[in-house]
Amino acid sequence: MQRPSRPIYLDCHATTPVDPQVLEAMLPFFTKHFGNPASVGHLYGWEAEAAVQRSRELIATGINATPDEIVFTSGATEANNLAIKGVAEAYFSKGRHIVTMQTEHSAVLDPCRYLESLGFEVTYLSVSQDGLLSVEALERSLREDTILVSVMAANNEIGVLQPLADIGQCCHDRGILFHTDAAQAIGKIDLDVKAQNIDLLSLTAHKIYGPKGIGALYVRQRQPRVTLAPQLHGGGHERGRRSGTLYSPQIVGLSKALELAWAHQTSEQAQIQAMRDRLWHTLQNVPGIRLNGHLTQRLANNLNISVDGVDGQALVLGLKNVVALSSGAACSSSSTAPSHVLKALGHSDSLAYASLRFGIGRFNTLAEIDTVAQACRQIIMALQSTAIGPKSIS
Ligand SMILES: *Cc1c(COP(=O)(O)O)cnc(C)c1O
Repeated sequence: MQRPSRPIYLDCHATTPVDPQVLEAMLPFFTKHFGNPASVGHLYGWEAEAAVQRSRELIATGINATPDEIVFTSGATEANNLAIKGVAEAYFSKGRHIVTMQTEHSAVLDPCRYLESLGFEVTYLSVSQDGLLSVEALERSLREDTILVSVMAANNEIGVLQPLADIGQCCHDRGILFHTDAAQAIGKIDLDVKAQNIDLLSLTAHKIYGPKGIGALYVRQRQPRVTLAPQLHGGGHERGRRSGTLYSPQIVGLSKALELAWAHQTSEQAQIQAMRDRLWHTLQNVPGIRLNGHLTQRLANNLNISVDGVDGQALVLGLKNVVALSSGAACSSSSTAPSHVLKALGHSDSLAYASLRFGIGRFNTLAEIDTVAQACRQIIMALQSTAIGPKSIS
């Protein structure tokens, strides 16, 4: 077996490469069609505005929304901040209670913690051992003064898919707004803001083969009309909801990435799932390996495992020349704390550290998956034999 010159990339929950077709669609908007979409007096502005409008329509149609409900942002972090802080500020006279989940991304948890410092109350619901939120537990947590529920569509570490339609119905029945962080889900599973009663939805381009630095927030405009307090003040772009010159090349890239993902969603996800299932098939009978997150209620491209009795750091070091992936310690930038998601599943610190997150993507091949699977098997079994043998690996 030939060792690849660069490790095989299996970290698609962190980011993905830009698809060449996306790059090609973007390029003219850097050079030829470089106008400011807000310039209403000349051709350069009109060209850019027309491209932005086409992108807005494409994105809106894909989630069953309308173009006026799409607000472009710098990514999902900003979209989550705008949704959560924007709703809190606009609705605080109605109530100051927010409900979310312990396994959310930090871009949801940290705005919630910030709001607590301003006097809001936040309930962080726990999840079951397989990572699923109980809708009954959610119902019990709702109060007269609850203004917002924020539950992610798909988890970025364990890939678990939450029951969005049930959660949406539960919120809708009580007149509570429902926000979902769909950064990992969009382009991989069907999302329909009407059928699922979603009032706010965050998305980003760079998890689906689009460029970094662009995303959007869907903001429901009818039944009910959601108002947001803007978090960036300025020229009043995006109907006052988010100021700043629209980044037209990135917006074109975002919509092209979504267009491609949606056009091939069924076949691509099936292909990726076949690779994921093959990886799991090779690893599942290695002694001490367990799957993190629900077996079937999960993204097709995600596998997350923990290994009993193995040192997490040794595992990551042993694999780093073969495969680029994340461990249970490296899911937020520069943090070495054990993953809060795996802790929420009930794992000890050492088991959380001894975890691997595989994120398979469009450009991976079965041959790569086999290389990685064999390398993982070998390294795990080698570490297990040294751990119990006379020469400990400390
Ligand atoms: C990547 C990610 C984010 C952050 O998105 P950016 O566009 O990088 O700001 C937020 N939530 C989830 C679930 C993610 O996976």
